[in-house]
Amino acid sequence: MIRTVVCQREGCCGNKFYIETIDNNLQLTCKECETKYLFDISYYDFIMISSCSKCSNDTFKVFRDEEKEGVYAKCTECGGPPEKIYIDSDGIQVSYEIKLLHDIKELMYRVEQRVCNLELKVGDLERGQDVLEQSLAYINRYIVEER
Ligand SMILES: [Zn+2]
Ligand SMILES: [Zn+2]
Repeated sequence: MIRTVVCQREGCCGNKFYIETIDNNLQLTCKECETKYLFDISYYDFIMISSCSKCSNDTFKVFRDEEKEGVYAKCTECGGPPEKIYIDSDGIQVSYEIKLLHDIKELMYRVEQRVCNLELKVGDLERGQDVLEQSLAYINRYIVEER
């Protein structure tokens, strides 16, 4: 069940929030009354900042998935997601594009490693075949000489 987060303060039913990531929490600030709410988002490998990745608007509607862990934010103007910042393996904050590039590089490296291993195995096979052919030639010669 996905629910829209609505401000709980009496007399306010604001559903537009400024978002901010503080430590492992997503802090929502109601645009109407400035009440703050915290959501644990330590399961995300990125932080969200209060700027739409498409139109740079700074307020968001926020949704919670009650079954699976999940907090989603959508721009109040265009429905776009907030700008996300990822933490790379060195603990450096990077943009989504850079993270993607990094992931692709990692994948390419692993594919390269596999191809390299395959080449080694093929090399082994070829060498094995050489030995086999030499042995056969030797056996043939032996048989011929014995006759
Ligand atoms: Zn409010
Ligand atoms: Zn937007």
